[in-house]
Amino acid sequence: MKIYDVTAPIFEGMPVYKNKEEKQPKITTVTNAHVTESRISLDVHTGTHVDAPLHMMNDGETIETIGIEKLVRPCKVFDLTHVEEKITKKDIESLPIENGDFVLFKTKNSFDEQFNFEFIYVAEDAAAYLAEKEIAGVGIDALGIERAQPGHPTHQTLMKNGVIIIEGLRLKDVEANTYFMVAAPLKLVGTDAAPARILLLDELNG
Ligand SMILES: [Zn+2]
Repeated sequence: MKIYDVTAPIFEGMPVYKNKEEKQPKITTVTNAHVTESRISLDVHTGTHVDAPLHMMNDGETIETIGIEKLVRPCKVFDLTHVEEKITKKDIESLPIENGDFVLFKTKNSFDEQFNFEFIYVAEDAAAYLAEKEIAGVGIDALGIERAQPGHPTHQTLMKNGVIIIEGLRLKDVEANTYFMVAAPLKLVGTDAAPARILLLDELNG
């Protein structure tokens, strides 16, 4: 069985949203004789992570309310590396996206080594289409599922319809296919997101 680790490495100097210095993880290490211990200070939206509705809605649910069974399950990876600027309804309406699916969009973002201010995002009409299809979740290979849309309509539309959002995937080495996904956010309580280790298992291919 082939295992794809689609998680971004976490380290000081890693790509963070809009290159904001305050979003950089801070790791302090103390060594006493033979004992080394490190402490991390981390934005919950660092690297690959799962968003909770609280992120965009003041009365939204927090990360621990998303059951692990909703994140450990089959998913469909779609290749949208030809898409420029944003993913629109037109880009996805011919794809085999069905009720209950967890879809991951692979775009040019997966090939960026640095934060790209022009990252490909999910447009509002695509979010509405996905919500209408009643999908379970959507993941993208950018640190945001939208860029600078006033009022954050993409997040709002998805979250109000119970669609789980994963951001910051690294899908460069993954081909369009169906995989078994293991998305395991840190078991934080009461937060608006949590960093996650995300693996795609290709059970059929060596
Ligand atoms: Zn986020």
